[in-house]
Amino acid sequence: MQAVLVLCALICARAEATTYQNVRSGMTDYETIVVGMGAAGTTAAATLAQAGVRVLALEAMDRVGGRVHTVPFGDGVVEMGAEWIHGTSPSRTYDLAIKNCVKLVEQDISIEVFNSDGTKANSSLINELMNQAMGAVNEQLDVNEPLGKFLTRKVMEHLKEHYPHVLEDRDFVTEFLNLLDLVIGNYEASNSWNDVTTKSQYQELDGHQHVSWGTNGYNTLFDILLNRYNNGSGLPSLTLKLNSEVTNILYSDDPKRRVSVTTAEGSVYTAENVIVTVSLGVLKARHKQLFDPKLPEPKQTAIDKLSIGVMDKIVFFFERPWWPIIEPAFFGFLWKGEDKRELPDEDYWLFRVFAASTPKGCRNALTLWTSGDVGKMVETMPVDVLRNKLMGLIKRFLGKGVEVPDPIAMTRSRWFNNPYTRGSYTYDNLFTPQYPTARADLGAPITDSAGNPRVLFAGEATDAHHFSTVHGATDTGHREATRLLEWRLKSHL
Ligand SMILES: Cc1cc2nc3c(=O)[nH]c(=O)nc-3n(C[C@H](O)[C@H](O)[C@H](O)COP(=O)(O)OP(=O)(O)OC[C@H]3O[C@@H](n4cnc5c(N)ncnc54)[C@H](O)[C@@H]3O)c2cc1C
Repeated sequence: MQAVLVLCALICARAEATTYQNVRSGMTDYETIVVGMGAAGTTAAATLAQAGVRVLALEAMDRVGGRVHTVPFGDGVVEMGAEWIHGTSPSRTYDLAIKNCVKLVEQDISIEVFNSDGTKANSSLINELMNQAMGAVNEQLDVNEPLGKFLTRKVMEHLKEHYPHVLEDRDFVTEFLNLLDLVIGNYEASNSWNDVTTKSQYQELDGHQHVSWGTNGYNTLFDILLNRYNNGSGLPSLTLKLNSEVTNILYSDDPKRRVSVTTAEGSVYTAENVIVTVSLGVLKARHKQLFDPKLPEPKQTAIDKLSIGVMDKIVFFFERPWWPIIEPAFFGFLWKGEDKRELPDEDYWLFRVFAASTPKGCRNALTLWTSGDVGKMVETMPVDVLRNKLMGLIKRFLGKGVEVPDPIAMTRSRWFNNPYTRGSYTYDNLFTPQYPTARADLGAPITDSAGNPRVLFAGEATDAHHFSTVHGATDTGHREATRLLEWRLKSHL
């Protein structure tokens, strides 16, 4: 009986303290606060809210989705961020689409390659070499070697064994290896394929690797998660605040203290716990200001040693599709050495725009792809220069015997310059094998002295095997929501 009285007194004292603070600073109290409403944050917030937890979600941008950004155009959509569901089993993302009867489209991404003089290249050989190289990427290797060095060896061995005469065409071999470097850069968001380790822990899911949301758009995933799809009634116990940049997260070792979150416009919110889902790029740029006290050493080391790279898209819209072939989706650009040498030095960046693709959600659009330092540069280049140079590139490779019309619009992604992403996605760099627990360290919760989880971490970078993807990010949001639900069950018994 005495214990019950003490407990009542404690609860009353805590309620009184909270109310007092609420009155003084307009503070609002929740059970859990989720910072960031990308795939990880939205999954976490929705999973908790569905279980009846009172959740506040704070998102810095004016939309949910984060690195998923579907932009409507004409009667279709284009994806400025994530484009495909990579693998279908086991995939929470894919399952949600299927359960909600969303029509998905499997996209063939074999590549039709054109030379820089407008002629067609040997696409069947190039696809064979690329498939062989991509297969080798997925081998689980024990040696930490730059991926480019390893794949160059693999390609040369394959050519020696099956196509020795091709080895005599030095220009083709050099330019094919350049193209392959850019394809890898596209998957890894790396500046060079030699920045990536052969000893990556990434694991592919089973099933088709390029499943598109088609004209529905990837943002449908967020409508489903938030129970807004098909006129859903939303999630009553979730409060979502857009344009709410979190500037400070104050946490304590003391089990009696709540976590306190401050936004840029000065609002302060408290909760039992907070799930932080901002990207590795954002953590690198501002973790020292964001957290009070500073993050534990293993987390700081993980933030320092892991890499987030850049992959950007530039999308051109036309009155009608004019390109030579409607399928397949990718037109690769294979330079000839002599054509490269003719270009002025300042145009070097054009060599790193490796392909144009036809998005599944919009029949009048062509997407150009680039990565690494050139991606960063393209993000800030004057619009007219970018448009003219890239249209020149398109005409050079795809315009032979075709009248290429002027585009009616152009848009580009800016994933590096966006202060709320600071990059596109993470990859396993050459240091990663020396820090095998880095992603787990990044994702580990910070607990108080009684072992209660106070600051939790989700986001693609925290998944050791499925980083850099939407399905990986979604899984991490679910992981942290489940951690909290289990904790609530135990601690609130
Ligand atoms: C160009 C591109 C192409 C891609 N292609 C694919 C693909 O085809 N398939 C695939 O599976 N994946 C792809 N990805 C990767 C995929 O988009 C990401 O892995 C995934 O969306 C990351 O989700 P997340 O929740 O971890 O992070 P984010 O989406 O970055 O979510 C974090 C959220 O936190 C918010 N935020 C940041 N700072 C603050 C702050 N201080 N306060 C409040 N909110 C804040 C951000 O605005 C953001 O909404 C691609 C990514 C890019 C950029």
